[in-house]
Amino acid sequence: MNILFMGPPGAGKGTQAEKILEKLGIPHIATGDMFRSAMANGTPLGLKAKEYMESGALVPDDVTIGIVGDRLAEADCQPGFLLDGFPRTVPQADALKDILAKSDRQVDAVINIEMQTDILMKRLSGRRICKQCGASFHKLFVPPQQAGVCDHCGGELYTRKDDSRETAQKRLDVHAEQTQPLIDYYQQQGLLKNIQGDQPVEKVLEDILAALG
Ligand SMILES: [Zn+2]
Repeated sequence: MNILFMGPPGAGKGTQAEKILEKLGIPHIATGDMFRSAMANGTPLGLKAKEYMESGALVPDDVTIGIVGDRLAEADCQPGFLLDGFPRTVPQADALKDILAKSDRQVDAVINIEMQTDILMKRLSGRRICKQCGASFHKLFVPPQQAGVCDHCGGELYTRKDDSRETAQKRLDVHAEQTQPLIDYYQQQGLLKNIQGDQPVEKVLEDILAALG
């Protein structure tokens, strides 16, 4: 089964991807990992991507699409895959369709994990890091025994800029704006499966497996 995985940052995609991998035995293809391995292996496209990244430029679509195509052509993806972080735009979705059609494949389902903004904000903005040892806590989910103090070394806890409410809100806004056209695109094709992410991890998994049929 060829599955696309969508959902805002903080919705627990990574956790669910691991569980789906266990259940269905198909690889989890995250774009970040794919880029890192293409660059580390020194593939022609990997080297191109590296040049762009090192010069601080955005990697152009044809390079990204090429790297995705190379990865999906590998043997472990033939029984199916869970693609996470790609496509990000409608032109990329069209390109993906073409890549898969070359080997008589298609996207079978698009899992879209939905979650209310206020819950995502709590998840994304509650992180606290120890200044001294780098240990990570969460105001709500992994609170330190004493507020503002590291359990391990007694160091002071602080909020990274990336974890502030403002940054979290911005990440969510950008994500929503970018993905809406894709959601519409896959909805029109009857492939979109909306999953309520604000539930216990096992229940979310159950809903995903039920949606995949
Ligand atoms: Zn510490």
